[in-house]
Amino acid sequence: MLAHKLIESQLPINKLDIYESRSDPRDEQNLGASRAYALGLGIRGRTAIQTVDNELWNSVKKRGYECERFKLHLTPKINIKLRDKEEGVQPSVLIYQSDLCGQLLDELEKRADANVVNINFDSPITELDLDESTISKSNGTQQQYDLIIGCDGANSIVRKSSSESP
Ligand SMILES: Cc1cc2nc3c(=O)[nH]c(=O)nc-3n(C[C@H](O)[C@H](O)[C@H](O)COP(=O)(O)OP(=O)(O)OC[C@H]3O[C@@H](n4cnc5c(N)ncnc54)[C@H](O)[C@@H]3O)c2cc1C
Repeated sequence: MLAHKLIESQLPINKLDIYESRSDPRDEQNLGASRAYALGLGIRGRTAIQTVDNELWNSVKKRGYECERFKLHLTPKINIKLRDKEEGVQPSVLIYQSDLCGQLLDELEKRADANVVNINFDSPITELDLDESTISKSNGTQQQYDLIIGCDGANSIVRKSSSESP
């Protein structure tokens, strides 16, 4: 998402490297491996994607299923109604995480200049040195950066490094 926003921005970006520790979600051999759960994209998810543009949202929507009612079945007899059809409220979109990531990637590749945006899968960042502005990769090499943006989730190396930095 952030990569989408960056390429749509007016920032003079010569090179944008994306490092993802997992494999390409579009690789059929990976299906079910690590992005297997389904997400419900409600108003927050929809609005976030629409901040790029509506075309991106419509392409994501096509990959999922629109739902107006949700019921959580805890046991065969106990269930909780989480959402019901409401007038004027847009349906949520149920989508597999792998399909969501795959669609955002397809669109990114379609929109971005391949000479500028470089997506690296199976490429975890192992260390970040904020003083030297370098990242260390799992193959033992280092790379200099001008600007780093951490989108690395709950156990973020980027967040950890910045909180440790004086
Ligand atoms: C079972 C389950 C169900 C959920 N259902 C919903 C739902 O219905 N609706 C909803 O809105 N949210 C749902 N969520 C929450 C949602 O999945 C998260 O809020 C969302 O994925 C967070 O996005 P993120 O980009 O911050 O982190 P992530 O999705 O965790 O993405 C971080 C990425 O960074 C990569 N990465 C991590 N460390 C490194 C590193 N060192 N180097 C390189 N790459 C790295 C990871 O491989 C990962 O791909 C659910 C979560 C779970 C677990």
